[in-house]
Amino acid sequence: MAFNPPIPMVDLKTQHGRIRSELDKALLASAHAGRFINGPEVAVFAAELADYLQVEHVIPCANGTDALQIALMALGLKPGDEVITASFTYVATAEVIALLQLKPVLVDVHPDHFTLDVDQVAAAITSRSKAIIPVHLYGQGADMEPLMALADKHGLFVVEDNAQALGADYQFSSGIQAKLGTVGHIGCTSFFPSKNLGCMGDGGALFTRDQALADRIAMIANHGQSVKYQHDVVGCNSRLDSIQAAVLQVKLKHLPAWTLARQQVADRYDVGLTGLDQVAVPARITQGSHVFHQYTIKVLDGQRNALKQCLADAGIPSMIYYPIPLHKQKAYASVDYGAGFPISEQLSEVVLSLPMHPELDESTQHIITQTIQNFFS
Ligand SMILES: *Cc1c(COP(=O)(O)O)cnc(C)c1O
Repeated sequence: MAFNPPIPMVDLKTQHGRIRSELDKALLASAHAGRFINGPEVAVFAAELADYLQVEHVIPCANGTDALQIALMALGLKPGDEVITASFTYVATAEVIALLQLKPVLVDVHPDHFTLDVDQVAAAITSRSKAIIPVHLYGQGADMEPLMALADKHGLFVVEDNAQALGADYQFSSGIQAKLGTVGHIGCTSFFPSKNLGCMGDGGALFTRDQALADRIAMIANHGQSVKYQHDVVGCNSRLDSIQAAVLQVKLKHLPAWTLARQQVADRYDVGLTGLDQVAVPARITQGSHVFHQYTIKVLDGQRNALKQCLADAGIPSMIYYPIPLHKQKAYASVDYGAGFPISEQLSEVVLSLPMHPELDESTQHIITQTIQNFFS
């Protein structure tokens, strides 16, 4: 069976269609202003994002991977220093660690929340540990409060990989809330088109509350200079284009409504999938919100791949994020990971992400959940 138009995982065409006049105006204005690099749109967008996140400094850059790399460069780490992160994440997180000649120390994740297991982080700390990178996978936070306490105790930096959870809140036991990405020393995000806040190409940003770190990050992203042609540190070239910033300015205004729509889509999936012993719907943490970059179920009876095929046959896309944990990847196989990471390995065999976007309507969702219900009946 095929749907016309086909059911997409992410529906940017519809999303952009609904705000087309705003986008066209911003795109044309930016294009014709001719300030393609470091135009005024970039600083205005950075200020608006800082206001939304309630964070002192936002430094835009070229993409989310660069954001992570620049964050680690800004911490002044030495080759061989250890950086602890999750074995179950997108490759970018570990890639930048290895690229900078630092040592990626992988640890397992929580089986229901898919984020760093804080006890295992504690067990992995050595005298060479310098930083921790929690990944807020699928749209909700790693447990930042105990993680920050652990980092403080050992003098470690925390760099949040917030590429999937922009806009999500984290709530401390005191009741105080903060946006994810603003809890650690540095937060990183991506504006890849399919992220919750995406541009029309590549983009990324770093957040920090620390003025000295912000200055250093801005310097590194701009060839290590704060005065033109005066290079104080080795940097790189990582910029957000003015046109992308103009697009992001428009889309940021809609992010709160889109986040709410994602949460409603998720709740409808939960209802549509009730009664299935074989399916675990996404667990929500109590200490914060979930912004559902992905709606990821666990298929518990070994039928994940069969379900994926059944959905595909019915014209319904689904994705496996991620099919191979990092410690099983060839590029990272040279390190001895001991007994491996059983939860990450198990998750890679049971997770399945269903179509998720703010535009997903009830009748399409009904077809998706009915197909899953029928598969198991
Ligand atoms: C998307 C993503 C990145 C990288 O972002 P790019 O902009 O594609 O470089 C990093 N980490 C996670 C968890 C991501 O989902």
